[in-house]
Amino acid sequence: MEWIEWLLSSEFRKFLLDHDLFFPLLFLGRLIGITAIELLRPARAVSYRKVILYDLTVFVVFQFVIFPSAEYIDRYIAIRPQLPDTILAMPFPVRVLCYFVIADFGHYWIHRLMHTTHVWRIHKWHHAPTYMYWLAGTRTTVPQQVLVNLPYIFAWSFLAGGPWWMGLMIGVFNSFQNDWMHVNVTWRSNWLEWFIVTPRYHHIHHSDNPAHYKANLAALFTIWDRLFGTYVNPDDVKEPLSFGIGEKVPLVRLALGV
Ligand SMILES: [Zn+2]
Ligand SMILES: [Zn+2]
Repeated sequence: MEWIEWLLSSEFRKFLLDHDLFFPLLFLGRLIGITAIELLRPARAVSYRKVILYDLTVFVVFQFVIFPSAEYIDRYIAIRPQLPDTILAMPFPVRVLCYFVIADFGHYWIHRLMHTTHVWRIHKWHHAPTYMYWLAGTRTTVPQQVLVNLPYIFAWSFLAGGPWWMGLMIGVFNSFQNDWMHVNVTWRSNWLEWFIVTPRYHHIHHSDNPAHYKANLAALFTIWDRLFGTYVNPDDVKEPLSFGIGEKVPLVRLALGV
C-alpha cells in the first residue's frame, strides 16, 4: 500500500502543483467519473460519440483562450474592496459562507442581465446545445466570462488571509458546480432544491420552451429565484424537455458573442 501513501503525501501534492498536473488530472477524473454516472442513470439519451469531440474542443478553447482572456480583462475592471478589519476578524468559515452568498447573488444578477434583449448575444452560446450533459455547460464567451467573474473577484476579499489551498479548492468547486448543474442524471432530490440548484432545476433553464427563457437563473442557491420571481418548480414541468436556442447562428458569432 506504499503507493496509496505516496498519493496522499505532500511530495505528490507538490509534484502535481509544480508540474501543473492538478487540473488536467482532475479533468480526467471528471471525464471518467461523471460520464460513468451518466451512463448508469441517464435522464435522457445523449449520443456521446456525436458530441464529445466538439465539446472537448470547446473545453480546451475555454481553458486556454476564453478563461485566461477574461481573467486578463478583469484585472482592469474588477472591483476588489478593502474590507474593514471587523469583517476580516470574523471566523473563517463565516467569511467562506459570505464569499459564496455574495458571489452567487452577483452571479444571479449577471445571469439575469444576460437574458435581456441586448446582452443575450454574449450568453447565447451557453444555451446553444440541443442536448444536455456535464460537458455541454462549458460554452461561454469572453464577455460572458468577464462579467461572471466580477462578483467572484469582488467576494474574494472575504477570503483574505485564508490558507494557501483556498484558491485551489474554489477552482475545484467551480468546476464541479458547473458539471453538476448540467449533468445528465435522474436526480430527484426535491428537498435539496430548497437550498441548492440541482441538474433537473438547471435543465429547465436550458429548455427551449419560451415559458422557461428566464426560469431558474440561479447558479448555486435557489433562494434568488424564489425571492426575485424567476423560480419554476421542476415538479410542475412536464417532460420531455428539449434544449437549444431554436435558431441557426454561425459558430464564430456564437463563440464571440456578437
Ligand atoms: Zn442562461
Ligand atoms: Zn447552463
